[in-house]
Parts: sequence; structure tokens; C-alpha cells
Amino acid sequence: MLACASMTVWGFASNSAFASISPQMPTPYEIPVSKLAGVGPARLKALNSLGVNTVQDLLGVLPRTYELKSRKPISALKTGDQALVVGQLLRLKISGPPGRQRLEIVLKDGTGFLKLIFFQPRSVAYLKDLKTMTELTVSGPVTSFNSVHQIAHPKIALGNKAREWEGIWPIYPELKNIKPGDLGRLAEVALDFIRKQRPTEQFDSDTLRKLNLLPLFESYEAIHQPKALFASTEKHPAFRRMAFEEIYQFQLRLQKHRKAQQNSKAPVLPVVDAKKLFEQIMPFSPTGAQARVIQEITQDFTRPMPMLRLLQGDVGSGKTAVAASAALHMKEFGYQTALMAPTEILAEQHHQLFAELFGESKVARLKGSLKTKARRQALEKVKTGEAQIVVGTHALFSTDVEYQRLGLCIIDEQHRFGVEQRTALRNKGRDGDKVPHILAMTATPIPRSLALTAYGDFALSVLDELPPGRTPISTHVLKGDPIQNIGMLADKCFRNNEQAYIIYPLVEESEKLDLLDAETGFKHLVSLFGDSQVALVHGRMTADEKGLAMQRFSSGQVRFLVSTTVVEVGVDVPNATYMIIIHPERFGLSQLHQLRGRVGRGSRKSACYLLSDKFFLGDEAYRRLSIMEKTQDGFKIAAEDLAIRGPGDFLGTRQSGLPIFHHCDLVKHADLIEPARELAISLSP
Ligand code: ADP
Ligand code: MG
Repeated sequence: MLACASMTVWGFASNSAFASISPQMPTPYEIPVSKLAGVGPARLKALNSLGVNTVQDLLGVLPRTYELKSRKPISALKTGDQALVVGQLLRLKISGPPGRQRLEIVLKDGTGFLKLIFFQPRSVAYLKDLKTMTELTVSGPVTSFNSVHQIAHPKIALGNKAREWEGIWPIYPELKNIKPGDLGRLAEVALDFIRKQRPTEQFDSDTLRKLNLLPLFESYEAIHQPKALFASTEKHPAFRRMAFEEIYQFQLRLQKHRKAQQNSKAPVLPVVDAKKLFEQIMPFSPTGAQARVIQEITQDFTRPMPMLRLLQGDVGSGKTAVAASAALHMKEFGYQTALMAPTEILAEQHHQLFAELFGESKVARLKGSLKTKARRQALEKVKTGEAQIVVGTHALFSTDVEYQRLGLCIIDEQHRFGVEQRTALRNKGRDGDKVPHILAMTATPIPRSLALTAYGDFALSVLDELPPGRTPISTHVLKGDPIQNIGMLADKCFRNNEQAYIIYPLVEESEKLDLLDAETGFKHLVSLFGDSQVALVHGRMTADEKGLAMQRFSSGQVRFLVSTTVVEVGVDVPNATYMIIIHPERFGLSQLHQLRGRVGRGSRKSACYLLSDKFFLGDEAYRRLSIMEKTQDGFKIAAEDLAIRGPGDFLGTRQSGLPIFHHCDLVKHADLIEPARELAISLSP
């Protein structure tokens, strides 16, 4: 059986994302494909349009699968076989009207007859002068027509070529304007070309052995001209080398970017005591992890290059307090901090907190929905430097925002922003060659292998400790009639004097999806408890409506907040202790973990209920959800989620910031990422 038939093993070792990082002398791999024999203008165009520019790009187009070919007698052929047959020409004729002629040959070998058809006889014009009984070798896929075996457009040669043709045949992918067979021939040419230049291996043999990799050239040979079929392409050292090469090239590029970054200058602040800084602004002491991370951050501020740091901390680990401490450090030395949140709700909440901590007058709030006058005032405050903390959504970096002295950009819930937004914010604070420090925070723990790739140019900090006094959130998956369960749970919540979030996957009823929705859920609860006890919030409401609903809930006026995932990130209402999620099977595990993190923030015991309809919940989905019952460790949940959904989906494709890898699978090749990064750091020019 062909081991790699189902795997994607084609692609390019370098694509446009890996703009050449060549040292002075190009290696043979970096030579343009146009220098290869057999690459004329038309073929060059076809190759270039596929992103194949260099010899290495070409060698990176890997066989899709392999086939074992051995000579067979005609009588043993079956439809679908990749035949290799040697026989004698019995008959040859040209038929069909001019322009649609075809050449037919009948071949015999003593065991039977095989028909060969050529629909464009001109391409094989030499055949028509062949004499009867000429020996021919042919190869190609066998089809059957009127129960006679035939091969259309076989590979054909005079004489007996069985010896040369027998063996393992790489089968190349069907690409635009270039035939699979041609790719095979080009790979041969490319290998010969490199072989003549005597390629040198970049990594020492110890490194290769440790990582279970073949040298680069041997890998290409093994893949394009294999001596045996591969039991597994995933684990084979030649294919691993393809993946490694890709990650390594990418990491080299990151290092280059990082070095360039370090040439720009950022504000330099004096050293401070992290714990004191924290206690100066917050009403409690930092956890050990908070103190450590603030130390890491404020250390970065004492250096002249801009900080680029990703802070990962599980939900409720206290990232906001870290952000406030960093902002305080900036403020003490006359620099502004911009704090960007992904939603209006979260921006509002941050604004309230920072106004409390730093004083109303020192904090400005920028939002898309501000009226002109209020906006003008806020902008003025930012420009004069009166506002030392500026809080907002991405409105923070619209063109009319001018900072007086921006020292730090904090991006909260970073995973909710696109890569472009990150870059825009970074450039926004640029003032000549001066750039602000950047602190990105995320509550979706990203497994390290993935973080090193998606955030490869960031330094990483982790808050791996929760503030004291938290009681674990007991989590239950309930299969059954969700409407009945909501009623039962809401009733219990009401009697116990608690507050609950009730989360729906949809805003309103959908004809296409047979799911419960927030608006219907809201009406249901109002019918049970009256509208003085229930608030509704979802993405289609205006910022003011959302703000009002949130306010009614956080102040304790209403017991129930019916919502969509707009409360997924950051929202902090310590009194709320019930989290009820409807149709949990519609959400990713990390998202459920985020949602669940809205409760368990105070000292009271909290619970999370995942209400699923039997009808929607298969065994697999149930197994997946039950992980939520077992653990509250965001990193464990993230690892499961990553394995289930794959890296692109896990990070959200639009905003993933992941390069397009053709050979590397960030889950399967996770073990190669850290070593590739270390080598790139130590070997980058
Ligand atoms: P997240 O990391 O999810 O953004 P928050 O910053 O919202 O977490 O913090 C969660 C809760 O923990 C908040 O109510 C905050 O006041 C509280 N908190 C943060 N740090 C501490 C601490 N060191 N001691 C006690 N409570 C803390
Ligand atoms: Mg937060």
C-alpha cells in the first residue's frame, strides 16, 4: 500500500513569505530555475506563477505519492494498474478525420494483446514508421474499453527498457500548466544540477542525528528518487527535514526582523521595584507570578530597544493588574500608555477601572461610537498629555489620534486582533526612529510550539498562578432538554441569591440552524422572572445599549445576563457565580474555557453548566466537552483544542499570523520548532 497517498507532501521549501535570506554567495539551491536545462520561457512562467522561483523551490514540490512498478505479462494486467509491459508491435493504424486523427497500436507479448492509443499522433510521429515485430517498452495506467485493455498516451520507448523502468515511481501533483510527468523530469534535472555543485550540509551530524533528520541533499534524493517505499512519510528523516527546513527558514526571517526592530529606539526608564510598583496602584499584593512578570516587563523598559512581549495568563490570573503596573511605571516617568481592548464592553470596563486607579482626569477613553464633541475633547487630552492612560478599541490608532509621548502600547486579549492591527498599533506610536514598547496579553494559552511560530518575534511571559482565595468552578455537562434545564438552574440560582450568565451561540432565531438563540432565551427568562431581573447583551446592540445592560448586571440590579459570546473575553463581574452555556458543542474548548472564566472571580463557589441537547451531542463531542469537567488548566485545554482543531482554526485563521507551511505541521512536527528556533538564533548572520 502507498503510505503517503493521503498526505499533503507537496509544496515549496520557500515561498514569497520567505524572501531570500541569502548570505553574499547564493547557494546552488538559490539559483533561479531558469538556469536549469529544460526550463524555457513558457515553463518558467508556469513555474513562477506557482511560486517556484529557485532550484530549491522546485525540489520542494514533492511527489504526491509513490508507486511500485514491475514488469508484467499482458495477461496479468488489471484495469487501474500502472503497467510496465514489454512486447512486439503487431499492428499500427491511423484513423479518424483530419484534425481529429488518432494513432492505434496493438502490442503482443505471447500472453495477450494490449491496445495503445495516441490522440495526438503528431507528438509521436516517429512511431508510424515502425515495422511489425519491433520491440517496445510501454508504461501507463491501464483502462478498459469494450473489455479490451488499453493504455492511452503511454510512456513509450524502443527496445526492452524494463530494467531501467522497474522500481519506485514518484507521482507528482497536478498543478496548473505543468504536467505531473514534467515535474518529475524537472526534479531529476534539479538534483543533477545540485549534485554537480557538490552541496555542503549546513548543520553538523550531531544535530541531525539528535533531531532525526537527513542532510538536505540526501533528503531531496530520498524523496525524489527513492530506493524503497516509505512506511510513513511523517516520521521519515527526509520528510522531517523538509518540515525542519521550512521552520528554520521562517525562524531566520524572524530573527532578522527582530534585529531590525532592535535598531529602533524606545523610551528608557529607570529600574523600579516590581512589588512596590504593584502595591502602589492595586489594593492587594501581587501573586508570585505577577511580581515576576512585572519584573520582566519593567526590566525591558530599562533598555533602549523596544519591548515586544506576549503575556499569557489563564483567565482570571490578573493580567489587568500587571498592565496597570506597567502603565504606572510609564506614567511616573512622563510617558503615556495606550490600552487597546477588542470589544467596547471590555474597553468600558478597563476605562472604569483605570479611572478609579489613576484618577478620572488622567485617563481618556477613545471609542468609535463617541460623538464628535466628546471625541474632540478626548483627542485634545491625549495630545496635550493630560491623559496618561488612553483606553479604547482599535479607534486608538485612527489617523486623527495624536499622542504627546507614547511609551507603551498594551493590547489586551491579543488573540482577538488581526496581525494587521498589531502592526498598525506598533507603527502608530512611531516618532522618527522612536517606537513604543509593546505588551500583548492573551488569556488563550498557546502551546509553546505554536507561540514560537505565530509570535516568534515576541518574548514570552506566563502568569501561571491564580490570585489566592479562588474556589474551583465545578463544571457539568448536562444532556437533556436545555429549555427545561435552564428553567431549573435559573430557579436555583434565584433562590440562592446568585447571579448568572446565560450564553447562546446565536443572537436571534435562525431558519437554517435549529439552535436556541439569545433573544428567545431572554423572553423565556423574562416570562419566568420578570424584566426587572434579566438583561440582554449581544453584538448587534449599540455600544450604549450594551453598556447599560452590562451596568445593570455588574451593579447587581438584575440576576441574569442573557448574552452571546460578546462577554467571552475579559469581562469581570466578581459577584456572578453561575455560567450556563447553551449548545456548548458549537464552541471551541478554549472559548468555553474563556467563557467559564467569567465566573469564579470572587470568593464564592461558582458553577458552570454546559447544556446540550441529546440530538446535537454525539459521543465524540461529549468526550470533548467532558474535558471541561476534568480540568481547569487553560494550557491543558488549549493543547486538546489544538489537537482537535489544528493550528489555523485554533488561532483563528484570519488573525493567526501563521506563515503558510507546506511541509510542516505544527502539531506533528512540534518537536522540531524549538530546535529550529535555537539554531536560527545562533546561526543567523
Ligand atoms: P485576567 O487575567 O483574566 O484579565 P483580571 O485582570 O480580570 O484577570 O483579574 C481577575 C480578578 O482577580 C479581578 O477581579 C482582579 O481584581 C483580581 N486580582 C488580580 N490580581 C490579584 C491579586 N494579586 N490578588 C487578589 N486579587 C487579584
Ligand atoms: Mg483580562
